[in-house]
Amino acid sequence: MTDSVPALKASRFIKPTLETPYHIDFDWWDKADRNLRVYLKSHLCTLHREMYAEASADTPIDWVDSYTAEVQRIDGILYQLRTHCSQQPDYITNDTSVVDAVFRVFLVNDNQPMSPRELAERIGKDPELILKTISGKTVYKGLRPVVEGAG
Ligand SMILES: [Zn+2]
Repeated sequence: MTDSVPALKASRFIKPTLETPYHIDFDWWDKADRNLRVYLKSHLCTLHREMYAEASADTPIDWVDSYTAEVQRIDGILYQLRTHCSQQPDYITNDTSVVDAVFRVFLVNDNQPMSPRELAERIGKDPELILKTISGKTVYKGLRPVVEGAG
């Protein structure tokens, strides 16, 4: 008896390359009962981390999607990340881990898919290192290749 996540069917497995588009698979967070909010908080700047330290109250905020112009309700933490914390100089530094840095890029770009090569340019790390980190058997923080739809 294990509670492991079912493996992907072999036929759907694609070997990721430097050009494979990745994104945050939020289903991964939902399915495994992981706490996305706790992880989101770790990306806040010092100021907002203190602000949300004991805030249990969820304050959804209307967010206008920059691509579709649709208004969606998003978490207050995500709103602060996009509008404030990501603008701080220490949002992504040399000391930020590969997984965290990649996640932070997707948090603020509306989760638009990017390849390891594109991510490397954004976060200033080696593309091969990024690929190796996010293409292994273990899925880190929901970072997964975008599964191509039929057609
Ligand atoms: Zn902030």
